[in-house]
Amino acid sequence: MVSAVSATDHLRNDEPVIGVLALQGSFPLHIASLERCGARTRRVRKPADLEGLSGLVIPGGESTTMENLALRCGLFEALGKAGRDGLPIFGTCAGAILLGKGTERPERLELVDVEVHRNAYGRQVDSFSQDLFLAPFDSPFHGVFIRAPIIEAPPGSSDCEILGKHDGNPVLLRSGQFLLATFHPELTRDLRVHKLFLQICGVTGSCAEPEVPGEAAVNLLREKSI
Ligand code: GLN
Repeated sequence: MVSAVSATDHLRNDEPVIGVLALQGSFPLHIASLERCGARTRRVRKPADLEGLSGLVIPGGESTTMENLALRCGLFEALGKAGRDGLPIFGTCAGAILLGKGTERPERLELVDVEVHRNAYGRQVDSFSQDLFLAPFDSPFHGVFIRAPIIEAPPGSSDCEILGKHDGNPVLLRSGQFLLATFHPELTRDLRVHKLFLQICGVTGSCAEPEVPGEAAVNLLREKSI
C-alpha cells in the first residue's frame, strides 16, 4: 500500500500542510514545486487525507480518470465539501476542469462558476507552449498547454478575477479561494504560480527558495520521462 504521507509530512507538525490529489496525473511535480517553495505537502488519496489541510492542488492529467477514481473512494464528494467549507484549491488543466462546470463528462465539482471545455484546443498534437502575461507578475510566465481546456467565464462575473489570457481566453483565474490554470506551471522551474497559490492559502511565511532551484523537479521529469 502506498502511504499518503509525503517526505515532509512528518516534519514540523505545527506547520501548514498543502495536499496534492495523488490519484493520477502530474502530482509528483506539484509536490516537488510546492516543496521547492518551502511548503510541507501530503498526497491525498482518500477523504481522511483532507483533514487539517491549508490548501489542495488538483493536478493535470486525465479528468475522467481522476473523476472515476475519486468517485470510487468517496473522495469526489469529500473534495466538493472541503471546497464549499472554504479549503483553498488550485486546479491545473484537468484539475481546472473538475473545479468548474460543464455539461459533458467528467462530473464536475462545480465549485467555481465558469464553464470549462475539455480538449478545446484540439488533440495531443495541438499542445503548445507560449509566454504569458499574467497580472500578478512583472515578467512573462512560460505556459505549457497540453490538451488544454478553455475556460468560459460568465461576462461581468464579479466573483472571477481573470489574471491572464491567451487568445482572449482566461488561462489563469481566481475566484475567492480557488485558483484555476489551464497550463502546467509544475512543468517549468518557475515557482511564481505556486507561490501565488500559497499566498491564497495564507502560508507564505514558510516559503524559502532552495539553493538549487529546480533540481527535484528536473530529476522527477527524468525519472518519469514526462
Ligand atoms: N485533456 C485532459 C482532460 O480532459 C486534460 C489535460 C491536462 O490535464 N493536461 O482531462
